[in-house]
Amino acid sequence: MFETVIGLEVHVQLNTKTKLFCSCPTSFAEHQNSNTCPTCLALPGALPVVNKEAAVKAMRLGYALNANVVHASNFDRKSYFYPDSPSAYQITQLTNAIVQNGELFIDLEDGTQKRIGITQAHLEADAGKNIHESNYSKVDLNRAGTPLLEIVSEPEMRSSAEAVAYLKKLHSTVRYLDISDANMQEGSFRCDVNVSIRPKGQKEFGIRVEIKNINSFRFVEMAIAYEVQRQIEAYEDGVYEQEIFQETRLFNVDEGVTKSMRGKEEAADYRYFPDPDLRPLVVTQEMIDEAKEMPELPDVKVKRYIDELKIKRYDALVLCSEKELAYFFETMLETGATPKTSVNWLTTELLGRLKKTEFDITNSPVSATKLGELVSKIDDGTISGKGAKEILDVLMEKDADISELIDSMGLAQVSDDGAILEIIDKILEANQDKVEEFKAGKEKLFGFFVGQTMKASKGSANPQKVNELLRERLS
Ligand code: ADP
Ligand code: MG
Ligand code: ZN
Repeated sequence: MFETVIGLEVHVQLNTKTKLFCSCPTSFAEHQNSNTCPTCLALPGALPVVNKEAAVKAMRLGYALNANVVHASNFDRKSYFYPDSPSAYQITQLTNAIVQNGELFIDLEDGTQKRIGITQAHLEADAGKNIHESNYSKVDLNRAGTPLLEIVSEPEMRSSAEAVAYLKKLHSTVRYLDISDANMQEGSFRCDVNVSIRPKGQKEFGIRVEIKNINSFRFVEMAIAYEVQRQIEAYEDGVYEQEIFQETRLFNVDEGVTKSMRGKEEAADYRYFPDPDLRPLVVTQEMIDEAKEMPELPDVKVKRYIDELKIKRYDALVLCSEKELAYFFETMLETGATPKTSVNWLTTELLGRLKKTEFDITNSPVSATKLGELVSKIDDGTISGKGAKEILDVLMEKDADISELIDSMGLAQVSDDGAILEIIDKILEANQDKVEEFKAGKEKLFGFFVGQTMKASKGSANPQKVNELLRERLS
């Protein structure tokens, strides 16, 4: 039996207005090489100046992860030669990063949480982009110098499910903190997966393989599954030492396999050394105060939903997994809708309908206030759940006044005691034999009376009211 060991390195592109060491804008769609200056072009004599906004955003994540936010961190040069890096080195933080020793609690399938240690989160500058034409290549440096935050975990995950849970929690957290749009398709949240195996019970770690730049949760799962299988087979065939070595691999999406990209560089290959152009990044009290301004984070939110709103743990986790969903839900509650009905109408009815359209929760054609209003009408018995579904279908197509829809579609429920009693009395009158049988103990007949009353009201009577009043009359 083997145990899987996984450690993750996640690159998050910070959503700052300007680059990490110069005042060029970070906007993307500009003309090639127009968002550049002597600093990000690495012209001789140009000096880097640290972007305070990037530092504050890194610190904010640090506080959210219960980490040590370092008050004087350092920048180092990592040397490598690529055409998309004009300086031939990347400015990063190797030994004394701005964020150190944090933790993230991941949510497991069985409803429990597991603590994953965060080694560090460091600031670094992104490279530019190579564009390959048929027989030549071009370099676009608009992205060069964009701030990245690399978040490094301890090797504490033991399955691909735990790795995915970690990524989802981190993704959700950086989005709550509003430090990155974390768009995976566009590469603003990408991850390197380190995988090894060891026989159960063995203390030492096995040989680690790094799979670079995976940009979807599903691919992370597939890449780990393939890699674990490959390593176990090598072990069982007695060729572990020969076939598994520390290297960098790439996940081939079409074939579902990982392939060797290059041998893993040692730290020495990068000739790291302290960047002589940059003084230590010293944080001020003002920066600390700004970094600590943060919204309610998912763990606290989930707990509050469970304890105060009496929502089931599973539902609370779903609602809090994305800030847009949680805020939508909270806006619904502001209209007076009850939590219980709101959960169902948001997660089942609205999300179910959105799935069939090109919209999602961020641009839903039915606003949170509107859905809250509809739910309130169910809560107070004005309409039935069935009627509300018809109204929601209409609202998905075009906005309209809910009260007017109730009128024009004839969906108002009769909740008025007098009106319902009138029907009940007629039914009981016409079925006196059954009333006797019921009173003699034939409990089953209760359903019959409910059915008859609903039928006589043409479905407009509030079923809950019908139940209550019938019980009264028959007791
Ligand atoms: P490097 O600097 O070469 O990338 P690090 O020591 O920074 O190496 O580790 C990078 C990542 O690899 C970390 O997320 C760490 O948790 C993970 N890691 C280290 N050893 C192992 C291992 N044996 N198996 C799986 N992951 C590992
Ligand atoms: Mg590393
Ligand atoms: Zn610049």
